[in-house]
Amino acid sequence: MPNNDFTGKTVFITGAGSGIGRATAVAFAASGANVVATDIDIDSASATAGLIEEQGGRSIAARCNVTSSDDIAAALDATIDAFGQLDIAFNNAGIEQPVSPLADIDEDDWDRLVAVNLKSVYLCMKHQIPLLLESGGGSIVNTSSGAGVIGIRGQSAYTAVKHGVIGMTKSAALDYAATGIRINAICPGIIETPMMGRFSGGTPEGRDRVIAQEPVGRMGRPEEIASAVQWLSSDLGAFTTGHALVIDGGQTVGL
Ligand code: NAD
Repeated sequence: MPNNDFTGKTVFITGAGSGIGRATAVAFAASGANVVATDIDIDSASATAGLIEEQGGRSIAARCNVTSSDDIAAALDATIDAFGQLDIAFNNAGIEQPVSPLADIDEDDWDRLVAVNLKSVYLCMKHQIPLLLESGGGSIVNTSSGAGVIGIRGQSAYTAVKHGVIGMTKSAALDYAATGIRINAICPGIIETPMMGRFSGGTPEGRDRVIAQEPVGRMGRPEEIASAVQWLSSDLGAFTTGHALVIDGGQTVGL
């Protein structure tokens, strides 16, 4: 019977020290998985691993800057050392773009967005796929955004890289479809995380402004993204690959 029990599976998560990454790490651990919580900020990754252990789960933390091929390789080595194999990867780490019309975007900011939000997904998959092949298959979920499927004023760099994540996901899914590796993307709407706090300014007016984009009248919770990542990575999603799953309270539906 297909289910979403992840007992015995090992899950590798980037950006696991905060927001969507942390919620997903906790959810996978609660469903039986071994969780490798990685982040550029090792203290936050360790806090996530600690949270999991407090709840009786199994987790290790690793520092991993997703712009560094060496960091990614080392964190995956630590994964194999600790748990013996890799089954699921959630390539989620990302940064926001300051609101700015295209001609005012700093070249350094553009390069940073491409490195952290787009090239990182290529680098992570490049190192993860050989391990998943050794495991006889598995699941990769890459974090795109509602900004991966629509244009957003003041967000040219962010929308460019998040559209790019979806294109890369679809092509890579085709490359590996016959091997038992499924590769999908998620496209969250407005989710209540520290990133959204920074983006909205964290003020009541800022919150109201972003919530106004949500037909359901509220922000999403990180756990509501975690459940989608779990579905895509479980046997319940076994026939799904190359898909970009929008989970956004209707934000992009009526535009
Ligand atoms: P967050 O800022 O709460 O968490 C992001 C985590 O990524 C942090 O722990 C940060 O330390 C880590 N990180 C940043 N740069 C890194 C790097 N170079 N290497 C490794 N880790 C790094 O953000 P979040 O809201 O949880 O966002 C997670 C993902 O979801 C991002 O890719 C973001 O673009 C995407 N997203 C978020 C929303 C939203 O509304 N919050 C909507 C759509 C998409």
